[in-house]
Order: sequence, then C-alpha cells, then structure tokens
Amino acid sequence: MFNAILIEKDDDGQQHVAVKQLDESQLPEGDVTVAVDASTLNYKDALAITGKGPVVRKFPMVPGIDLAGTVEHSSSERYREGDRVLLNGWGVGEGHWGGLAEKARLSSDWLIPQPSAFTAQQAMAIGTAGYTAMLSVMALERHGVTPDKGEVLVTGASGGVGSVAISLLARLGYTVVASTGRLEERAYLEELGASEVIDRSTLSEPGRPLAKERWAGAVDAAGSHTLANVCASTRYGGTVTACGLAQGMDLPASVAPFILRGVTLAGIDSVMRPYDDRVEAWRRLGELLPPERLEAITRSISLEEAIPVAGDLLQGKVRGRVVVDLSRQ
Ligand code: NAP
Repeated sequence: MFNAILIEKDDDGQQHVAVKQLDESQLPEGDVTVAVDASTLNYKDALAITGKGPVVRKFPMVPGIDLAGTVEHSSSERYREGDRVLLNGWGVGEGHWGGLAEKARLSSDWLIPQPSAFTAQQAMAIGTAGYTAMLSVMALERHGVTPDKGEVLVTGASGGVGSVAISLLARLGYTVVASTGRLEERAYLEELGASEVIDRSTLSEPGRPLAKERWAGAVDAAGSHTLANVCASTRYGGTVTACGLAQGMDLPASVAPFILRGVTLAGIDSVMRPYDDRVEAWRRLGELLPPERLEAITRSISLEEAIPVAGDLLQGKVRGRVVVDLSRQ
C-alpha cells in the first residue's frame, strides 16, 4: 500500500480530493515503477487539485506533473533498480497518475536520469517551473539576447517560473527587471538578483500597439494584456518568451512590434519537450543554481499539506517554489 493524493469526481460532477491509501495493483501501466522521494506544486497541479482548471483528463487521478525518485522495478533497458530518475510533464498528473504519491508507474520514455548536481528535494525545488524558466532563458540566448543588449524583464516574478528565471538571468550577468503584484516582496526579488522591481499593474491594462522601447528580452508567465504590453515595449530585434497564462490565455496584441521592430515572440512548452532538450536544460540548471540559492526560494511541505497549499498558490499567496517531501509526515 502507498499514500497518494487522489482526485475523484462523484455522479453529480463534484470533485473530491484527499490523501488515500492505494494498492500497487491500482497503478497504471508503465515499464518503470518509482518510489517517489519528492514532488512539487506547480500552477498546473494547483489547478488540478482545486478543480479550478480543466487539467485532469480522467478520474480518479493522482495529480503531480513532476517527481524525483528511485527506481523500484524496471523492465526497460535504460533504467535499473536503484537508479535516481526525474520526470517533468508528458501529461503525467493530467492523463496518467502522477507524482503526488509515494509510488508511480511510468513509461521509461518520459524519464531522465536525476542530475547529479541535485538531491531529489533540490530537483523538485526547481521542478517544471524552474525547468521552464531555464528553457525560456535558453530561448533568449538562442535569439541573441546577450547581457550587453540591455534590460530583461521577468513577469510573474514572485512565482515559481519568475523566481527561478530571475536567479538564472542574474547569475548569467543580465540586468533583470522584476514585475510583480506583490511589491512587499521587493527585498526577496532583489536578493534573487533583480536590479529593479516594477508594479505589474503598469503592464496588465490594455495598452497601445507600440510603446517606448525598453526590454532587450523578456520572460513572460502572465499572457493576456501583460504579454501584449511587454511585446509593445520590447526594443528593436528583441525577444519575448511566452510560457504562461497567469493573467489570461488571451493575447490582445497587434502585429506592430513584430513587423516594425522585428521583435520575436518565442513560445515555450515544457510538457512535450524532447529528451535531449530536457537533459541540456537540467545540465545548465546544475551549473547555474547552487543549492543555497534554491533554499532561498523553497518551502517544504507534506503530501497532506499540498491540498490546502494548492488553493493558496492560485490565490497568489505562495512565494517561489514548494517541495512536497514524501518522507515528511
Ligand atoms: P505561480 O508560482 O503561481 O506564479 C505565477 C505568478 O504570476 C504569481 O506568483 C504572480 O506573481 C503572477 N500573477 C498571478 N496572477 C496574475 C495576474 N492576474 N496578472 C499578472 N501576473 C499574475 O505559477 P508558476 O508555476 O510559476 O507558473 C507560471 C505560469 O507559467 C502559469 O500560467 C503556468 O501554467 C505556466 N507554465 C507553463 C509551462 C509550459 O510548459 N509552458 C510550464 C510551467 C508553467 P507576482 O505576485 O509576482 O505578480
């Protein structure tokens, strides 16, 4: 038997979430069974647990789009008992039972070896949010946004993607401007490496097709008017990466920044990302994020606590990253 968060739907379509004891025979199909050491709470996990977004595609579901653990059984040639593995995305926690459990059974195609730079808890302090931040920074680099080009904006700054993006960009020598709705987190954001903190309300209202050129690049987790305004205020030839929808799924923008200033809008998906990109992103994370930096952005909770904390996360009350430590009672 093992403990897991289980999301169920009753006959009236009402969602129920609780920590339940499950039997291993209930685990879904997969060639690798993993003892989960740690998982985490991302925005998507919070949507799944609270039922506030259509993330879960079948019920009952064990949520958790991320996990770090130790292989217990494997019929794959790639992994052996005792190997430390890492999973981010691939629809796990949405259509296949996920990481907010003491055990998971998965396809070996979805796993990568756990980077030696991190413990399971540290890898989950990064999680999909941090790995997405790394993919965003790599996209800026690929599009020629180097530190000498000027200021780089990070929206949703106090959140998971935002906190890691600021840390990575600052470490790489960029001048980082953090946009937040929580100005009381100024000291935290500056400690991560932001050289200026701006109020997100300056970006979140409907704006003009083109605004004063300011950003050489940007990492956006908000979408909607924020993303439109960020594109409108990006400098000639700059690049904006879009990974999130914390403000909204819409994009009420014009083509002006793209056709008049040659701005690039680079989409970032972490879920279906090919294996080699994942390994490279995690290698870079190992180089750029020393464990003490992770501590500053992380809080550790138990499986039981993940249910109420999911609600807090959607209300914007969680700063940085949350690790769900499966050894914690
Ligand atoms: P998170 O920890 O909840 O952070 C989101 C942050 O966005 C909040 O902390 C808040 O930061 C800001 N925010 C909240 N409401 C907002 C609003 N109405 N307008 C503008 N900003 C708002 O979530 P996360 O895990 O970092 O994820 C961030 C986004 O990226 C989510 O939309 C998530 O779905 C997406 N994501 C996508 C991928 C992908 O593969 N594309 C991967 C990971 C995450 P402040 O309080 O500092 O303003």
